[in-house]
Amino acid sequence: MACSHLQANMAGLPIHTTVLRLGYRVGRDPRITTHLGLVARALGADAFLVAGDKDLGLFKTLTQVGDAFGGEMHVDHVASPTAWVKEFISAGEGDGPSGIAVHLTMYGEDYREVAQKLPRDKPVVVIVGGPKVPQSIYRMSQFNVAVGNQPHSEVAALALLLDRLQDGSWVDQKFEGARLEIIPNADGKTVIDRSDGEGEGEE
Ligand code: SAM
Repeated sequence: MACSHLQANMAGLPIHTTVLRLGYRVGRDPRITTHLGLVARALGADAFLVAGDKDLGLFKTLTQVGDAFGGEMHVDHVASPTAWVKEFISAGEGDGPSGIAVHLTMYGEDYREVAQKLPRDKPVVVIVGGPKVPQSIYRMSQFNVAVGNQPHSEVAALALLLDRLQDGSWVDQKFEGARLEIIPNADGKTVIDRSDGEGEGEE
């Protein structure tokens, strides 16, 4: 699996960060799960995996964003998430250290404390729950992590955790191979479109 963000991850994310979304439902969850994928990508994750219903349209949307804005986040469906997490904890990515499972749940321990003690030299999977999270996920995860102990949004929980792990440095990461690059602008939109050579456009 390509590690497109290795340089950025050295600023704070583990050597390889995967986000796993449990219990995806085609009829109900496409929008919020697309947002999870977009947050995973923008905040430096290397892979976004979805368990539950298989939805190729969801992966197409995320791949199209990657084609336009760069980076190489891997996206895939996982048929048996519990078995996948178990294998990840024992074997990691298969050719390196064993993995760490970090499960986001409002019942967990304070994410600020976990961010300080989470190993950065092992691959990590951040598990985001769905309608019903199996007890085995709570038990097998090395960290059950709460972003505050109130119920809120999985998108917010993921973003705050990933941000905390790297002290906000994800904002400065470069996305290799981007066709479109947005230049910060206090007034209007400035976009460089590299498919037009080096042309700068304004909307
Ligand atoms: N039961 C709801 C449903 O029917 O879709 C989903 C519950 S919740 C919005 C979904 C996920 O958001 C949880 O499993 C957890 O991963 C994450 N989440 C929500 N609040 C959280 C918090 N305070 N801390 C960490 N994760 C949280």
